[in-house]
Amino acid sequence: MADDSFRLDGKVAVVTGAGQGIGQACALALGRVGATVAVTGLNNRFADLDKVCADIVTAGGWAEAFALDVSDVSSIKPTFDFILSKLGSIDVLVNNAGVRVNGPSLGISESEWDWVQAVNLKGTFFCCQAAAAHMSTHDGGRIINIASQMVDSAAPERAAYIASKGGIVALTKTLAVEWAHQGIQVNAVGPGPTNTPMTASADSTASAQVQARSPIGRRLEPSEVANPVVFLASPASGAITGHHLMVDGGWTAS
Ligand code: NAD
Repeated sequence: MADDSFRLDGKVAVVTGAGQGIGQACALALGRVGATVAVTGLNNRFADLDKVCADIVTAGGWAEAFALDVSDVSSIKPTFDFILSKLGSIDVLVNNAGVRVNGPSLGISESEWDWVQAVNLKGTFFCCQAAAAHMSTHDGGRIINIASQMVDSAAPERAAYIASKGGIVALTKTLAVEWAHQGIQVNAVGPGPTNTPMTASADSTASAQVQARSPIGRRLEPSEVANPVVFLASPASGAITGHHLMVDGGWTAS
């Protein structure tokens, strides 16, 4: 008999920043296990969102694209309300949208700092709030926040980025204990270096460093991050909340 505890048939999943990279892989993976997927992202990337939806539909699922800039807080609740009106529920939220600024901490400007926090941390919180407003009055739900392996294994010249990701882990634990009684599980996933457009500019020195430092000796593929996200969205992880699951090829264990 098939084990249905990893399936999400009849559930609606919202993924932010879903046009490429890890977000795209999460959207495709959630679609594969039966969820209807709200594929959200920046309006100027709408063609990417449509392509992800088409791929989910071709694979036998259902998805719709929605413009959502998570740094524009005033647009978040109206967009979640629109998704609800179109898809009927919000059962899973994957807060994936993220940006980073690399560079010496002595040179980071206030606007760079604010931009990274606005997308990564503030955007994540207000998407959690908008989703939980629905989940708390229905059958609960699952929120998965994409943090980073760097929260536990810091690297130089990434102060704004790592601070935002540390904030996401603290936020995840806080909301997990606050919303547990409403049936909302809140977890984070901490990817190690992953092959996405975000890391495409990494030079051969950076790639050699990953090879030398990572126990598995390579970057991850986006699907290797997406599958644990599906696990945390599924009935199979019914007793897990407030956890930061490292998906880093053993980096933080070594
Ligand atoms: P990526 O740059 O390929 O994708 C990021 C996505 O976020 C893009 O689709 C982009 O359009 C979207 N985005 C940016 N600003 C947005 C906004 N204001 N509103 C909505 N969407 C916005 O990066 P990725 O590597 O796929 O990263 C996805 C997540 O994984 C990020 O949160 C990132 O910090 C995290 N992460 C990545 C790695 C890695 O090595 N790639 C490692 C650890 C964590």
